[in-house]
Amino acid sequence: MKDLPGASLQKACRLLVIFCVLHLLVVVCYYLAGSTLSLQWSPEPSPRGLKPPQRGLQMLSANVSNPEADCPDPSPLLVGPLRVEFSLSVDLKKVEEDNPEVREGGRYTPKDCKALQKVAIIIPFRNRDEHLSYWLFYLHPILQRQQLDYGVYVINQDGEETFNRAKLLNVGFTESLKEYDYDCFVFSDVDLIPMDDRNIYKCYSQPRHLSVSMDKFGFRLPYNQYFGGVSALSKEQFEKINGFPNNYWGWGGEDDDIYNRLVFKGMRISRPDGAIGKCRMIRHSRDQKNEPNPQRFNKIAHTKETMNSDGLNTLKYTVVKTDKFPLYTKITVDVGSPKS
Ligand code: BGC
Repeated sequence: MKDLPGASLQKACRLLVIFCVLHLLVVVCYYLAGSTLSLQWSPEPSPRGLKPPQRGLQMLSANVSNPEADCPDPSPLLVGPLRVEFSLSVDLKKVEEDNPEVREGGRYTPKDCKALQKVAIIIPFRNRDEHLSYWLFYLHPILQRQQLDYGVYVINQDGEETFNRAKLLNVGFTESLKEYDYDCFVFSDVDLIPMDDRNIYKCYSQPRHLSVSMDKFGFRLPYNQYFGGVSALSKEQFEKINGFPNNYWGWGGEDDDIYNRLVFKGMRISRPDGAIGKCRMIRHSRDQKNEPNPQRFNKIAHTKETMNSDGLNTLKYTVVKTDKFPLYTKITVDVGSPKS
């Protein structure tokens, strides 16, 4: 039977509606797939030497730039979870080329807006050049995306005496302030790399613990009071606790002492959530001259009595040498010995 003209029109309309619905579905699917991809995107390349993503930085240049205006909080350049691996070696020359806006000594200031904080990153160090290369490779792009006005200070313990992490951190605080008016200090072990750039290396109204979810501890805190790895204190918070202890020689305990100091001065620890606070530690064997300190348990039991007479107000050291490298400032320092 032949279709009537009205029925053909009806059929055509129905086909058109079906076509439109299908088209809409395809558009929605593409949109959803796109946003999922960008959420899961791992922007960091492996150290194999692929060019680190400048996506965020280019986006910023495209935006209106106003060096007088405060940088937005949070930074629009953040990308979220990052791929972090340590299988191949890093070429520092390449890292320099990939971070052309980092100035001599490892200094960076955002040029399109005014950074919310001036942050000195302090790294206690001895004989860990390979780890430092990874740290520089991963952290410079992250810190720039976080739009911080920052400087990287590697505090290298001179000589062969037992390592003293906390005293080196006190030295980093004091020496970096001689260079610039920093208002925030991030104390980071050289072997810890954040896995999400939303873990901002800045200071908060309470002392901040940043390395809350380490692979080494199964991505959780080993205990609630843990304050080791990477932490951030404002100048005011650091001075309030008389800095860190100077007399913890060897591995362990100094971070627990710092935690005690903060609590005794009425502060509490702020932390990012476990997913954002994920980080990887570069595996290594125990360093020579950094054996576990057998006195640490006794010492941390007495922080309350010792903190006012051991810290910034009793800090003694001699700077042996300062090197301004393209990606960091290295301050080699004689911190004395347990007997001195
Ligand atoms: C030590 C800390 C160390 C922690 C995790 C504690 O027993 O005193 O210094 O950070 O273990 O390894």
